[in-house]
Amino acid sequence: MIPIAKPLLGQEEADAASRTILSGWLTQGPQVAAFEAEFATLVGADYACAVANCTVALHLALLALEVGEGDEVITVSHTFIATANAVRQCGATPVFIDIGPDGFNMDPKLIARAITPRTKAILCVHQMGMPCDMRSIMRVARAHGLAVIEDAACAIGSQIRVGSEWQAIGAPQGDIVCFSFHPRKVLTVGDGGMLTTRNPQWDALFRLWRQHGMSVSDTVRHDSRKVLFETYPVRGFNYRMTDIQAAVGREQLKRLPQIIAARRRRAEIYTAAIARMDGLVAPNEPDWAMSNWQSYCVMLAPWLDQRAIMQAMLDEGISTRRGIMCVHMEDAYSDLPRQHSLRRSEIARDQSIILPLYPQLTNEEQLKVIETLAGAVTKSASSPLRAAQSS
Ligand SMILES: *Cc1c(COP(=O)(O)O)cnc(C)c1O
Repeated sequence: MIPIAKPLLGQEEADAASRTILSGWLTQGPQVAAFEAEFATLVGADYACAVANCTVALHLALLALEVGEGDEVITVSHTFIATANAVRQCGATPVFIDIGPDGFNMDPKLIARAITPRTKAILCVHQMGMPCDMRSIMRVARAHGLAVIEDAACAIGSQIRVGSEWQAIGAPQGDIVCFSFHPRKVLTVGDGGMLTTRNPQWDALFRLWRQHGMSVSDTVRHDSRKVLFETYPVRGFNYRMTDIQAAVGREQLKRLPQIIAARRRRAEIYTAAIARMDGLVAPNEPDWAMSNWQSYCVMLAPWLDQRAIMQAMLDEGISTRRGIMCVHMEDAYSDLPRQHSLRRSEIARDQSIILPLYPQLTNEEQLKVIETLAGAVTKSASSPLRAAQSS
């Protein structure tokens, strides 16, 4: 079986977890602090705050921007449902706009007409690791005085060219950037998240909120030679990352360059092969973007049958997924009024497939994926559906 994804973990991660368990300090402590410092350096952020997962990172980011009841947040429907759930968790309403014509990210041209007096923020998603057009998004946001949160759940190690320099996602572009360490992403600690920002007040709030709103952290009390009593100036949450996870994360960070190089090599091979297949369109990487290729998603011509191609591949032991979901099409969101056309989002969900891509994928395995895909596409193209469409 060739799976859709496979995390790259080794003895180093297992040893780091083991050392931390035996150290006697298990939750948010010295390993979390070190992981945050190393992460901030890696992406070029002023502040990095670790939390339990990316969904709660998004929740805290929205709270820091004072998004609440009655507010609107402009975002995409073409994303994992957690993006929109975080908005609703604050009592606010996600306003979905469509993706662009040649990619799976928010179309910046559609932002302005979605702005209302209730709009509080823009929440863009670097979908499948491909950077959003941050320059255009920031231009609209600044013109209307709106804050920008980047959902970078999938985008660790992706880069954007700013002028003549390449900048990692997580360095100052938007206001707050949120990352995920779920096993389906590029780096994993099991479950985990990270917030980066250049605003020290927001960073201080994240730290307060993630640990029950407690004024003094466990580590400070533990290390103090004086008796310290904590206070609770605000109502918080338990959104902590454990030290076991952070210790694993520190080992994962060391692997990042190797992981991204391997993913980019695999993506290049797919793109070259797909260019030779009729009816398939490879994902587009603009010249100002460098994707980590968290997922590799191919668009299918209208006459190709997504389900039939996926089934044919599964029959050969190759796991694929359909394109990214559309939140507005799920029952959980049937109560939201639909305000803007989401046609491209719907087509991207129903006429695309995600191919297996992970660093351990061998040449032989990738060749099998490509050959099986080519066969399935040829078969689907000669099906009655095509005949019906072309007549
Ligand atoms: C995975 C994902 C999330 C949620 O991340 P968790 O760490 O699992 O909470 C949010 N947004 C996007 C775009 C994702 O892909």
